[in-house]
Amino acid sequence: MNPLTALSEEERMFQSAVRRFAREQIRPWVREMDEAAVFRQDIIRQFFEMGLMGIEIPEEFGGQGGTFFQAILAVEELSAVDPSAGVIVDVQNTICNNALLKWATPEQKKKYLPRLAENMVASYALSEAGSGSDAFAMTTRAEDRGDHFVLNGRKLWITNAAESGFFLLFANAHPEAGYKGVTAFLIERGFPGFAVGKKEDKIGLRASSTCELLLDNCRVPRENVMGEVGQGYKIAIETLNEGRIAIGAQMVGLARGALDAAIDYARQRKQFGKPIGEFQGVQFDLAKMATEVEAARLLVYNAARLRDAGLPFLTEAAMAKYYSSGIAERVASTSIEVHGGVGITKDYPVEKLYRDAKIGRIYEGTSNIQLLTIAKKLLGK
Ligand SMILES: Cc1cc2nc3c(=O)[nH]c(=O)nc-3n(C[C@H](O)[C@H](O)[C@H](O)COP(=O)(O)OP(=O)(O)OC[C@H]3O[C@@H](n4cnc5c(N)ncnc54)[C@H](O)[C@@H]3O)c2cc1C
Repeated sequence: MNPLTALSEEERMFQSAVRRFAREQIRPWVREMDEAAVFRQDIIRQFFEMGLMGIEIPEEFGGQGGTFFQAILAVEELSAVDPSAGVIVDVQNTICNNALLKWATPEQKKKYLPRLAENMVASYALSEAGSGSDAFAMTTRAEDRGDHFVLNGRKLWITNAAESGFFLLFANAHPEAGYKGVTAFLIERGFPGFAVGKKEDKIGLRASSTCELLLDNCRVPRENVMGEVGQGYKIAIETLNEGRIAIGAQMVGLARGALDAAIDYARQRKQFGKPIGEFQGVQFDLAKMATEVEAARLLVYNAARLRDAGLPFLTEAAMAKYYSSGIAERVASTSIEVHGGVGITKDYPVEKLYRDAKIGRIYEGTSNIQLLTIAKKLLGK
């Protein structure tokens, strides 16, 4: 058995290619994208060209035929430079592509996977204004009209929506059956009655778009139902169970970015005639941060490797996301303190990482929801 963090040759090459790309091609634009709250289209194009938007999609559909673990590595590396870049690749691979690979019909795969690998950004649309943690209390409805469904309602908080051409969207086709009416639909941006609405103005992760979706008698062909009618709750849950490992990776990457910045600064900043990194107080901060990042990474890698091995990973994934999002906040905060006053200015990258960290404890299941999952296992529920 290999140690968790020992990478295969292929994984190492992949990791260093993404790391180099993030540092050389994304880092120069991070501040500008954060301030403009827009992610550059040319960088998204590069994601596609590098195969980062179809990591697990089989080669026959134009993807890389890689592993879930590789997607985790990519999200970590991108997030160390810009967590907004990390989440674009995260939602595409670990949620949308992943769901299609598992649940789509051969025809749906043939139609959509090549586009998802080549040039079509995807979004996952579950949440609504009135249904977040209680996701299946959704009020978006799907009316069965035989050869098509008519969808009405609104989705909120949808990541990537400004850039997406494709939406894995959940609506209830049988509200009388409660959550057993929830159904997954594959929606193209151009479908009649579908529109992307208001974009949120956020504290962090600003370059990643988060928008409302409007469904006004949106006509969806029957062949665009994914899985069975009423199976959407299962698809949504299973997809999020895997996706949250990648949010853990995003938070590990973010924390590592903040730690690296603190180490660099501690080496060059002088006070009392020597670099601040020579003071034991600062060294202890760095050592504690590094330990937390490593612990979080082990949780994330373990959950991802369990998933790739086809072993149960539900509790481990919840722990990975819960712990990583907590340490990301702490490490980013301490990194600012190591920087002193300049840490809270936009001249250094850590104030942004601090802002970006906040979302980790909220999306893809809040920390409380992760704790509920962990507690259920502990109590044998
Ligand atoms: C930037 C961003 C991007 C997002 N991207 C997407 C996306 O792409 N697709 C998508 O579908 N959704 C997305 N979301 C939505 C996100 O998943 C929800 O915000 C999240 O699930 C929480 O739901 P809520 O905001 O309604 O909070 P609520 O569910 O109202 O929670 C409020 C508080 O109550 C607590 N709480 C609720 N229920 C319980 C309980 N049973 N026990 C204990 N505490 C509880 C929560 O932990 C939280 O602290 C995104 C959100 C944001 C902010």
